[in-house]
Amino acid sequence: MTEDHFEAKIEFARQMDEQDPLKSYRKQFYIPESDTIYLDGNSLGRLPKKTREKIQYTTDYQWGTRLIRSWNEGWYEASKNASKKLAQIIGASEEEVVICDSTSINLYKLAFAAVKSQPGKTKIVSDDLNFPTDLYVLQGIIDQLGPDYKLELAQSKDGLTIDMHTLEKTIDENTALVVLSHVAFKSAYMYDMRAFTELVHQKGALIMWDLSHAAGAVIVELNKNNVDLAIGCTYKYLNGGPGSSAYLYVKKELQDQLTPPIWGWFGEIDPFAFELQYQPAEGIKKFLVGTPPILSLEAIEPGLDIVISAGMEQVRKKSILLSEYLIFLFENVLMPLGFFLGSPKSSKNRGSHISLQHPEAYRICKALINPKNETNKIIPDFRSPDNIRIGITPLYTSFSDIFITIERMRQIVISKEFESFTNEMDAVT
Ligand SMILES: *Cc1c(COP(=O)(O)O)cnc(C)c1O
Repeated sequence: MTEDHFEAKIEFARQMDEQDPLKSYRKQFYIPESDTIYLDGNSLGRLPKKTREKIQYTTDYQWGTRLIRSWNEGWYEASKNASKKLAQIIGASEEEVVICDSTSINLYKLAFAAVKSQPGKTKIVSDDLNFPTDLYVLQGIIDQLGPDYKLELAQSKDGLTIDMHTLEKTIDENTALVVLSHVAFKSAYMYDMRAFTELVHQKGALIMWDLSHAAGAVIVELNKNNVDLAIGCTYKYLNGGPGSSAYLYVKKELQDQLTPPIWGWFGEIDPFAFELQYQPAEGIKKFLVGTPPILSLEAIEPGLDIVISAGMEQVRKKSILLSEYLIFLFENVLMPLGFFLGSPKSSKNRGSHISLQHPEAYRICKALINPKNETNKIIPDFRSPDNIRIGITPLYTSFSDIFITIERMRQIVISKEFESFTNEMDAVT
C-alpha cells in the first residue's frame, strides 16, 4: 500500500481497518468513551485492561493483606521483570537496563556521571529541538560543575530537523557528552541513531539518547548501534500510566567507568546490611537511588507485554501507514485551508506523531476536544506556538480515527467553529 492508493473516503479508511493485522489490540485497552478519538498517546498512553487488575491486586492483596511481607514476595525484585521486557523493546540486554525514577532524574544521574568520567573535557552538546526538561537538567549540571563548563546547542535551520553537518560543527575534542532525543517532541524528527552515534564516537565523546518519544513507537536498537547511554519514560507509547517510573540504560563496558552522583541505599552493594560506608552495587544496579514507587512500578508490565506481543516491526509498519495516510489527507484537505506540515515528510526521518501547524492551532484544538454538536470528541494536544500534535499509537489508533479527525479539522476551519473559544491557555496543554 502506498500513497498512490490512498483515498480520502471513510469507506477506504474502514477497509484499511478491516485489513489491519493489529486491529484486535485495541480490545486490550480500557476504552469507556466510544465516541472519543484519542490522539495523545504520545503524552499519556491509554490504560491496558490488565493494568487495572494488576493495580487492584497490588493494593488489595499485596499492600492491604500482605503488607511489609510483600517486599520479600516480589516487590524487592519488581523492577527486574519489567526492566527485562523493556530491554527487549529497546534492543539492549537485561544487564544494561533498569526502571527507576523519572526521566529528568535519570538524565541528571547519567549525564553527570558521563562528564565526571572524562576529566578535562568541559562541554556538553544538545540541540534546540530537545525537550525543555533535558536542557534544564543539563544547564543545572553546568551550573554545579562551575564556570569552566558549558552547554552548546546545535541550531535547527528549519525548526523541524537537524542535519549531520550542523551537529558535527558543534562537537569538538573538548566535548564530553552529546544528549539528543531520538524523536523530537514537537516536530517528530527522528535522528538516524546509527549515523549520529558513530559521528559522536568519531569525535571522542559519549552519546546519550532520550527515548521518551521513541520507545514503543519506532524501532530502537541500542546494542546494534553501540549506544553508550539512554533514558526514557514509560507513560507515553509504553502505556505505563501517569508519571510511571522511567528507565535508564548504560552500555555494559561503560558501567564500571561511571560513578552515579546520588549514592542511595538501593544502589548500594547490600542495602540491608545497613553499613555506614557506601559501596556501590555491581553493574547497572548502582544507578538506583531509593525505595521504588511500587504502585506505579507494578502498573508498567502489562503495557510492555502488549507491545512485545504485537511486535515492534508490526507496530512501526502500521505507524508509518497511518502517518502516510494522515499526510495524504492533510495535503488534499487541509493544506488549501492554511495548514502547514510541522513534521518531516519522509517516514525515514519521522517518529510516530505528526504536527500540523495553523495560526489558530490552539482554538482548533479546543474545538476538537469540545465539539458543540453531536460528533466525536477528538483529543490531540497543542504545542506552542502553532502546533496541533497528533499522536499515532498503532495499538489503538485506526485509519477511521485519522479520517474523521482530518474531516473535523476541515469543518472547524470552514465553519469558523473555533471562534467561539478563547485563546486563554489551560495549565496543561
Ligand atoms: C516526556 C519527555 C520527558 C519527560 O520527563 P519527566 O521527567 O518524565 O517529566 C523528558 N524528555 C523527553 C524527550 C520527553 O519526551
